[in-house]
Order: sequence, then structure tokens, then C-alpha cells
Amino acid sequence: MNTKANSLNNYIKSLFAENFDPRGVASKNLFFKKQIFLWLDTHGAATIPELSRGLNISVPKVTSLVNELMKDGLIINNGKVESTGGRRAAVYGLAKKICYFIGVDVKRYYINIGLFDLNKNLVKLKEKIPYPLENTQQALSALIQNIKKFIRESGVGSSRILGMGINLSGRVNHFTGYSYSYFHFQEEPLASIIAHETGIKTFLENDSNAMAYGEFAQGAVKDEKHVIFLNLDYGTGTGIIINKKLYYGKSGFSGEFGHIPFFDNNILCGCGKKGCLETEISGMALIRRVKEKIQGGSPSLLTKKVKNLQNLKLEDVVEAALTDDMLVIELLSEMGEKLGKALSVLINLFNPELVILGGKLSETGDYLRLPARSAMNKYSLSLVNNDTQLKLSELGERAGVIGAGLIARNRVISNEY
Ligand SMILES: [Zn+2]
Repeated sequence: MNTKANSLNNYIKSLFAENFDPRGVASKNLFFKKQIFLWLDTHGAATIPELSRGLNISVPKVTSLVNELMKDGLIINNGKVESTGGRRAAVYGLAKKICYFIGVDVKRYYINIGLFDLNKNLVKLKEKIPYPLENTQQALSALIQNIKKFIRESGVGSSRILGMGINLSGRVNHFTGYSYSYFHFQEEPLASIIAHETGIKTFLENDSNAMAYGEFAQGAVKDEKHVIFLNLDYGTGTGIIINKKLYYGKSGFSGEFGHIPFFDNNILCGCGKKGCLETEISGMALIRRVKEKIQGGSPSLLTKKVKNLQNLKLEDVVEAALTDDMLVIELLSEMGEKLGKALSVLINLFNPELVILGGKLSETGDYLRLPARSAMNKYSLSLVNNDTQLKLSELGERAGVIGAGLIARNRVISNEY
């Protein structure tokens, strides 16, 4: 790391420090600079008079702080606009290439990693890096090696990467940085272990929460404030957004919708209990049903495509639906109806404006959504479900990476949890 990059990094870190003490002239200036920075981040590029009015700081003071921020490299002059009285005024915005953030989305068989600039643009994305997720020390080391490789290949020095978000499925406490379902081998929180290995401040997040946030920030959510995101993948997770904020509960474990006892079916769930919602509404359940049907003699395109049914993956099943495989389409319709009934519970409880179907299974589109919509209307209170749109994910595969990267950015810049 060269000295210039190092001192810039320290400067940016001091600007975004958590325990800010705005006493003394130097730290007061830093405090005002942070206010300008955050104002531009929230409202977009602005002129000096706009900043002065917005922040209630005098024009000469804003001018000198903006000049310093330009010298520091944090903001840039974006050119001029017509201002009041026909005068042209300079507009200032954030310098997007000054620092970066990383989002890592760990799936069951691969990882997606993305690099974001300061303006929330995804500037580099590596998808489907082969990675079998197992709860072992070797799998953890492999995850760290893949992240390091991505950083090396990104060409951005790690000193410029201010934060990294990592999604894992299962129980994750985003605040303490502990993961309980995967890689819980040591006393030290997993987030600190990875931060130590990579040199980048690391934040853990539950995958469904991160995907919900991704859709909220850059996907299917437009102006809605109350949103429920269903992550229909091998398992079934939920991210809940209330009043534009992720709802975590006390320890970050909220939204375990997949493990509510919903069916009296004696089917053992991965969590150890029986009859959980995801035993019949999930990718795993769909794979099980497809296998049962094929073994019972039902015709399907999958018999030709997959030699050994034991190796059947969710991707194969989704692809079969999209190439008009009647067996999979019928099973999706059955599952959609159960899903709609389950959604009626969430709708009656939360009165959301929007429910988003995401995760691999949602790529089957209306084969799942339409029966779900119809059952949702049938089983929930009509006055309540009239408020609720049921949409498909807009970001698809990218929802997790985008959520992870932008959550890390929020936590570094505004210490938002
Ligand atoms: Zn369960």
C-alpha cells in the first residue's frame, strides 16, 4: 500500500468514524465535512447556496469546506447550472472513484461477488464462482481465498475498499457479526475473522435480508415503505422492511418464515423440526416432489437431461419449467397455491404494500406467481390484500450482491444498522 493511498484511507476512515467528537476546530471542520458529504449522498449533487441552505452553514464556510473536500479528493466539480438571477453556479457531487465497497453473496453451490463505487454503482461483478457451501473450516478458508482473489483482480487497492458485506443463509446476528448456522467454530465473531484475513471491515448479513435490501435500494421497490421479500431458493427465507428499514428483531433472526409449523406432514426439515413451511414451499421441496413423480412414472424432460436423479439441482428444475415441462409446471402450480395461503398470513399480519417473490424459484415467473396471487386473495382479508401488490424480483441473481454491498456502504458511511 503506498503512503498516499494509506493516508487517504485513514482520512476517509476518520471522516466516517463511529464515535465522532466534534470538539476543537479541526474536528469541527471534519464534522461539517461529513455533513456536506452525507447531504450530497442523500440529495445528489448541489450548488454552494443549496448546501448552505440545506445544512444551515454560512456560504463562506461551505465554500471553504467544499474547496478542502475537493482537495481531499472526496468531491468533484460537476460543471455549472443556471442559478437564480440568470447566474451560473458550480455543482458539486461525490467523487465516485475515491473509495469502494464489496458485496459477497454465498449461495449453496457458488458465490457472487461485486464491487461498488462510492455512488452505489456496481462496477465489477463476478458471478457463479464455483463454491460448495459446507459448514467446514476448509469451506471458510476457500471463501476467504475467493474474496482475496476478487480483490486482487479488481485492480483497486484494498486500502480503498472501506467495507465488505457478506451474506450467509441461516441465523446471522448482523450486529455482533456472528453466524450460527455456518462457520461458527471460534469464540471470535466470523465478521472479525474475515476482516482480519482480508484487511477489510466486514459485515455479515442474512442472505434474505440482504436480497430484500437490494430490491429496496435498486430493484422492484419504487416508493413502497412496507415490503416483504420472499427468498425462494433451496430453502425459504424472508426479509421484512418496515417504514423503509429492515426489521431485524432482537438478534437479527426475524423473518424465519420457512420454519413456522405450517403443515401436518411428518416431513423432517433441515432445522430438525417437522412440518415446517419450507418442507412443502421451497426449492428443496420442489426437487423432492419432482423426484417422487418421476420415480412414480410421470413423464418429464428432466429424465433425459439428468442421468442420476440424485444430482438434480434447482437450476435444472427451473430450466425445465421455462422449457414448458408439464410436470414441473403442474408442481409449481400446486406449490404456488400453498405459497399464496402462507402469504395470506403475512399479509394479514403486516398489511404490506408489496410482496416480492425472489430467489432461484421465482425465475419460474407467473407459473408460481399467478396461483400464489389467487390463493393469497382467497385466504387473506380482502380489504387488506387490496393494498398488496405481488411482484417478481427485478434484480434476480444480483439482489444478494447489491444488498450486501450497499448495506456495508451504509454501515461504514452513516453507521446505520
Ligand atoms: Zn424448519
